[in-house]
Amino acid sequence: MRRFWLLLAIAAVVAPSPAAAEWHAREAAIMGTRIEVEAWHEDADLAAAALAAVIAEMHRVDALMSHYKPESELSRINAQAAEGPVKVQPELAALVARALEVSALSDGAFDITYASVGYLYDYRAQQRPTAGEIAAGLPAVNWRHVEVDLAAATVRYARAGVRIDLGGIAKGYAVDRGIHILEQHGIRHGTVTAGGDSRILGDRRGRPWLVGIRHPDDRARVIARIPLVDAALSTSGDYERYFDEDGTRYHHIINPATGRSAGALRSVTIIGANATLTDGLSTSVFVLGPERGMALVERLGDVDAVLVTSDGRVLYSSGLAPR
Ligand code: AMP
Ligand code: MG
Repeated sequence: MRRFWLLLAIAAVVAPSPAAAEWHAREAAIMGTRIEVEAWHEDADLAAAALAAVIAEMHRVDALMSHYKPESELSRINAQAAEGPVKVQPELAALVARALEVSALSDGAFDITYASVGYLYDYRAQQRPTAGEIAAGLPAVNWRHVEVDLAAATVRYARAGVRIDLGGIAKGYAVDRGIHILEQHGIRHGTVTAGGDSRILGDRRGRPWLVGIRHPDDRARVIARIPLVDAALSTSGDYERYFDEDGTRYHHIINPATGRSAGALRSVTIIGANATLTDGLSTSVFVLGPERGMALVERLGDVDAVLVTSDGRVLYSSGLAPR
């Protein structure tokens, strides 16, 4: 046994590792989060160009969809759509329509109009709305207030006071765009990550990628490692943007029915084919809670989930359940 390990150690020292030289990586801070891109290719120049193109795409999506940027198309919708249809890029109209589909799937748990109340929270300044302010804002929270005309590429609000925010789905969309761009460059093995949303292209040169799910209270602790090939994985957690007050955590995932932070889960990880879907669903399941959330995952069939409940249990969907 000992000899065996010794042999392995020597092999690791003397064996040339040409494959390692062909992995290329880049990081950036975009969309208020950390972007990581990795790609394998023999041609270093081609790989560098692919990584640069992915980063440029992230900036493009951010400029289109950021609510922080007053000149973004999203901000223009929020300013004008209650007065009439606002013409936007077809891509943005399509993503808003996709978000409305996730609302329908999740029985309204996912709702981009959460922002009508959600914007009253300031997590950095530890500010939250009063019960009266929430009650005044809630009538504007309803995904059915948003009308998308895909043919005309317009978005319209059915009433005043509505605001949308794509924070629950745009990072996943940007990740899908990034993977598409890697593919266009001829990359067949890579990953794109934006905060809690990742997608894997191919395998890790003969092995699956191992993606870790962190402990909600300790980013250094991994509660599960999931082997993935050609898949997307999104995690939503109550530890991303929050403040604690008198033993209550006020965090960034808002139950559209109450205007308050969703309470029954600490984190939700969804695994599926594309990151736009897993991103939208991780936020949805977080709001739905363990029972209704897991029921949605099982009903959809082509996604899996790992949930961490507020009382510390880890729940797996049937496709992942340890045998
Ligand atoms: P995620 O980390 O993907 O769960 O996204 C959380 C972000 O989604 C928040 O920071 C908000 O921008 C947005 N959000 C919060 N609550 C909801 C909700 N009920 N439906 C859709 N988006 C939401
Ligand atoms: Mg999400």
